[in-house]
Amino acid sequence: MKTLRFVLGDQLSQKISVLRGSDPTSDIILMVEVQAEAVSVRHHKKKIAFILASMRSFAETLRGQGFIVDYVKMDDPANMGTFGGELERAILRHRPDSLAMTRASEWRVLEMQRQWAESLDLNVSLLDDDRFLCDEPRFRAWASGRKSFVMEHFYRDMRRQTGLLMEGDQPAGGRWNFDHDNRKPAKPDLFMLPPRQFPPSALTQEVIDLVAVRFADHFGDLEPFWFATSATEAELARDHFLAHHLPRFGETQDAMLEGQAFLNHAVLSLYLNLGLLEPLDLCRRAELEWRAGRAPLAAVEGFIRQIIGWREYVRGIYWLHAPDYQGFNHLEAKRPLPALYWTGQTKMACMRAAVGQTKREAYAHHIQRLMVTGNFALLAGLDPHEVHEWYLSVYADAFEWVEMPNTIGMALYADGGIMASKPYAASGAYINKMSDYCARCAYAPAVKAGPQACPFNPLYWDFIGRNEDKLGSNPRMGPVYATWRKMGTVRREEIKVDSQRILEALDNGRL
Ligand code: FAD
Ligand code: SF4
Repeated sequence: MKTLRFVLGDQLSQKISVLRGSDPTSDIILMVEVQAEAVSVRHHKKKIAFILASMRSFAETLRGQGFIVDYVKMDDPANMGTFGGELERAILRHRPDSLAMTRASEWRVLEMQRQWAESLDLNVSLLDDDRFLCDEPRFRAWASGRKSFVMEHFYRDMRRQTGLLMEGDQPAGGRWNFDHDNRKPAKPDLFMLPPRQFPPSALTQEVIDLVAVRFADHFGDLEPFWFATSATEAELARDHFLAHHLPRFGETQDAMLEGQAFLNHAVLSLYLNLGLLEPLDLCRRAELEWRAGRAPLAAVEGFIRQIIGWREYVRGIYWLHAPDYQGFNHLEAKRPLPALYWTGQTKMACMRAAVGQTKREAYAHHIQRLMVTGNFALLAGLDPHEVHEWYLSVYADAFEWVEMPNTIGMALYADGGIMASKPYAASGAYINKMSDYCARCAYAPAVKAGPQACPFNPLYWDFIGRNEDKLGSNPRMGPVYATWRKMGTVRREEIKVDSQRILEALDNGRL
C-alpha cells in the first residue's frame, strides 16, 4: 500500500498528522513550491525566502531520516505553478493507492483539498491539524450560546485545560492575569539584545538568489536574511528568547522605540506558524523559567496568554466565521490603501518607523501593528479588505487564520465587535506615551488642530463623529461620546476641515 503524503509549506513539523504512521519504505512525501501561492497576495520577499528555505530544509531532514521525499522546486521547468497541477503530476508519477493530507490552515486551500477528495479516484484522508491546543469543535462548543467572545474567559479555560501556571484548580500567584504589572512606556535600554540571528546556509542562499530574481518587484528587503529555517535553529532562537528577553517581556510589551524593532518580543510567531516550534512545549519552557526563579510571573503569564489565549482564540474565530469574515465591513470604510503603506514615505514619524521596519524585517511587533498602522487605517477609514491584504503580504508570520481576525476584527472593528468590545481607536497621545517617535516627528502630539496637529488627533474625533450611529450606544464608548456630544459646532467644524485636509494630503502622498 503506497500513500502519497502531501505536506504544505506551513506544516513543517515532524509530528504533523499527515506524517504519522508513514512507511519510509513505500510512502512518498510530496512537497511543492508553487508560484500561485507566492503571488496569491504579493508576499514580502523575505517571507517567501523564509518559507521556501524552511521547506527545503525540512525535506532534507526527512530524507536524512530515510523517507522518500518528492520535492518540486519552483524553478523546475515542468512545475505547473499550482497545488492542483502539481498534485495531479505527482499522482501520475507515483500511482499511489491513497492520498493523505493535514487540513490546510486557510479556508481557500482547505476548499481545494475538499475538492481533490471528491474528484480524485483515490482513497483520500484529510486529517486534523492537531498542532493547536483548541480544535475547531471545542472552540465552537465554547462559543455556542455566548453573546460575546471574551478572550479572557477563553484563556482561563485554556489554562485549566493545559494546566499551565496552575496550582491545583487555582491560577499560580492567585491571579489569572498580571497585565496590570506589565505594559510600561518606552525607556531606551542600551543592553537590549537582538533576537538570535542565523547566517544563511548554502541551501538558504540558493533560495535567496531565486527570490531575488523571481520576485524582484515584490515589497520588502530580501537581505540581510537571518531567520531560522529549521527546527534546530528555531529552538536556538527560542532558548535565546527565554534566557534574554522573557524576564522583561511584559514590561516592554507595549513600548515602541525608534531603531529598536524587536525590544523584548519573542520574534517566534513565524516559527510557530510554520511548525518549526510547538506552542505547548514553548509555554511549558516559559513556565519553567518562572518556577526556576529566572523570570517573574507577570512576564511569563503575559507571554503564555499570548499563545494559549490570543493565538488559539483568533484561530477559533477564523474558523467560526470563515469564509465570510474577509468580507466584513461593519463601519463601511472605503478609502483605498494609500501608497505610504508601501513606501513608508511620510512626515509621520510613527508610520515611517513601522512601515520602514516592516520593509526591512518583515516584522513589526503587536503594538506597532495594532496602534500605529492598524489605528491609522481605522481612523482614516481604509478599506478593510485592502488593509487585510497588506498585512497578509508584509509579515513573515502572516497566514490568513491568524492575520485576518487580528486585522479585520481587532484592528479595524470591521466584524462589528465579534472580537473587540470597542474599537482600538486612539489619538496621538497614546503613541506619544508609549514611544519615542513623536520627538522626531514633523507633527506635534499635543497640538489638536491646524497644520501642526498630529494627524491622529483630528482623525480620531472625525472617526468618532462619523461612526456615531454605529458606536454611540456602545457602553464602553460612553465617556468618549459624552465628550463628543458636548463639543461645540465650531470645534466640530475645525475637526472636519482638518480631517479633510489630512485625508487629501494622504491621497496625494504629502502627509
Ligand atoms: P510576541 O509579542 O513576543 O508574542 C508571543 C507570541 O504570542 C507570538 O509569537 C504569537 O505567536 C502570539 N501572539 C501574540 N499576540 C497574538 C495575537 N494577537 N494573535 C495571535 N497570536 C498572538 N500574528 C501572527 O502570527 N501572524 C499575523 O499575520 C499577524 N497579523 C497581525 C495583524 C494585526 C493587525 C495585528 C494587530 C496583530 C497581528 N498578529 C499576527 C499578532 C501579533 O502582532 C504577532 O503575533 C506578534 O507581533 C508576533 O511577534 P512576536 O513573535 O515577537 O510576538
Ligand atoms: Fe505619530 Fe502623531 Fe507622534 Fe507624529 S506626532 S509620531 S504622527 S503620533
